[in-house]
Amino acid sequence: MSARPAGSPSGAELATRFAPSPTGPLHLGHAYSAILAHDMAREAGGTFLLRIEDIDRDRSRPEWEAQIYDDLRWLGLSWPEPVMRQSDRQPAYDAALDRLWAMGLLYPCTCNRRDILAAASAPQEGAPMTGPDGIVYPGTCRPDAAPSGPRPRDVALRLDMARAAALTGPVGFTETGAGPDGETGDITVTPDTLTATIGDAVLARRGWGTAYHLAVVVDDAAQGITLVTRGHDLYEATPLHVLIARLLDLPVPAYHHHRLIRDETGKRLAKRDDARAIAKYRAEGARPADIRRMVGL
Ligand code: GLU
Repeated sequence: MSARPAGSPSGAELATRFAPSPTGPLHLGHAYSAILAHDMAREAGGTFLLRIEDIDRDRSRPEWEAQIYDDLRWLGLSWPEPVMRQSDRQPAYDAALDRLWAMGLLYPCTCNRRDILAAASAPQEGAPMTGPDGIVYPGTCRPDAAPSGPRPRDVALRLDMARAAALTGPVGFTETGAGPDGETGDITVTPDTLTATIGDAVLARRGWGTAYHLAVVVDDAAQGITLVTRGHDLYEATPLHVLIARLLDLPVPAYHHHRLIRDETGKRLAKRDDARAIAKYRAEGARPADIRRMVGL
């Protein structure tokens, strides 16, 4: 397992990315995230990459993907082609899952959301704790011994967090921006915290062949990303991503978490916030410079 976080990458070694899911229009929050990643790479003489996160086949649409390219080009961003698309990457996810399975770190889980909520809300459990993968899994399907035999395919697979974190020990990364509570610099997360606040995350969803947390780590490494720029909403997931990279012997990038763009009531923008879609501002005659100004760049 790899041990060291990357420190703070600079110059030509700086590679950033924007990784939207084509499940709706890009809004001002996406514009901010994409422009920031692009400008940081360009100013350092590094590379800005794009990745289409379309593992959710039911919600991803080619027309949203086309609109993403169109909006980003209009904003003045450019990136090397071909663009990585997660729907082309199943063999890489399978290889990663096979490896974690062979390490005895995955187990099949047949719980649905309702089962998990019921088990996590049992009186002896106290209030259920929610982490980056939803409610911290109460362990209903977790086996005593690591399962053997071939990796099962059409079932959800969870990471046995206690076992995984015992292998890696504390996980560390360099934060070059700031977390939601101002966390910055060298961040270390202990195995106890990983187990208590994240728990047994799903790394393969039934019918998907992977899950966001696994795909993002495998793909950031495959694209050679050295600085992951993304919003505060994903800060809690970062220790999980670092842990997965460590288990798979992948380089650990540095992270730059940024503020979220909010509407006038203070609510953060969501995908369905069509009112703040870049396409809508464009249709109303806005210029790219207007968008930069609106997001405070
Ligand atoms: N695809 C994710 C989203 O659209 C972003 C993932 C990431 O930046 O790590 O929210």
